[in-house]
Amino acid sequence: MPIYSHSQLSMYEGCPLKYKLRYRDKIKRDSESIEGFRGTMVHETLKKCYDNLKFTGVNTLSNLLTYYNKTWRGKWHDSISIMREELTQEDYRALGEKMIKAYYERYSPFDSDITIGTEMNINFSLDDETKYRITGFIDRLSRAQEDVHEIHDYKTSAYLPSQEDADSDRQLGLYHLGVQRKWPHTKNIRLIWHYLAFDTELISYRSPNTISNLVAATKRLIDEIESAQDFSPNESWLCEWCEYPDLCPLRKHFFKVETLAVNEYLNEPGVVLVNKYVALRNEAKKIDTDISKVKEAMFDYAIKEEVEAIKGSDYKARIRFDERLKFPGKNDAKRQQLEDVIREAAKWTDVSQLDTTSLAHIIENNLWSKDLIDKIMKYGIIEASSSVHISKLEDEEK
Ligand code: SF4
Repeated sequence: MPIYSHSQLSMYEGCPLKYKLRYRDKIKRDSESIEGFRGTMVHETLKKCYDNLKFTGVNTLSNLLTYYNKTWRGKWHDSISIMREELTQEDYRALGEKMIKAYYERYSPFDSDITIGTEMNINFSLDDETKYRITGFIDRLSRAQEDVHEIHDYKTSAYLPSQEDADSDRQLGLYHLGVQRKWPHTKNIRLIWHYLAFDTELISYRSPNTISNLVAATKRLIDEIESAQDFSPNESWLCEWCEYPDLCPLRKHFFKVETLAVNEYLNEPGVVLVNKYVALRNEAKKIDTDISKVKEAMFDYAIKEEVEAIKGSDYKARIRFDERLKFPGKNDAKRQQLEDVIREAAKWTDVSQLDTTSLAHIIENNLWSKDLIDKIMKYGIIEASSSVHISKLEDEEK
């Protein structure tokens, strides 16, 4: 079985297709987001900050910022993409600088702990048979007072998660286990996330019980990935940063028309079809509204004139006023009471029948045992169908 990292597992959870393209098909792309690039530059600078402590003592802030800016300029390349049009490369660089400055001012002279390693690679197995192997890089491992080991992770994102998120985070939970596997005598481990854009620390601990739940959940996820056949695309806000738009059925067409001149764009067959479909659908909506209005007028007319048929030039309209018995629907609060009355009267089987839509949902989402699903699937047939769903383009998709 391949070795898995937390980011690999997260990619599968976020979008199975992207995972497949990156890790199964091994399709490499040069493109990199500026957020990712800035993260790397900040990580490298903080690594230098602690690495130098061992040899030359405390760096000055000015030294570190010079290193950050020099590395930024040296490693910058043309395939770095800036998705947010209102921001420039300079805005991103300056924010990275601000993060380093805030970190420096908070922790200098960096003597509250002893650094054991930076960018430390850990490889370990979740099981004794070494079937489920995990790899990762700890940004910094340190030993603080009272023999507490600290796993530090630097985050440069513009999102500050909740304490609950930190307490259930898989990445540092796995690193906790990795450190314990590497140094079995290690008892107390503190997990620390440095949210640099917010100058904030999040701290969390893991009990043996949480670690064993994490191991079980991670093994289940690895099993799912290993047996996966269908790697569907999963559209989300992250698609804007995806490096495979040209290979994804949900983004391929966007990618194809993105660079077309306006006249070419408006004549592209896909664009023509969607525009035509939407125009017709809007026309149909208006016609439906007009039909409803005329229908209402005919009902009024029939009541007023006391007629049940109205003659037109080529057609006649037969008007009926019927009454239909209705009971509370599935989401109505009174539905349960109604069902109770029927059950109490032992008449449930007279009125109940299989809801095949719910059954299909249960089977498609594997909500019952495999045995039962296999039995039921002997009666199921897969019917091909097609549909068109129209929605407005988001601003960033235009
Ligand atoms: S564009 Fe979105 S849906 Fe398509 S592969 Fe990338 S992340 Fe997945």
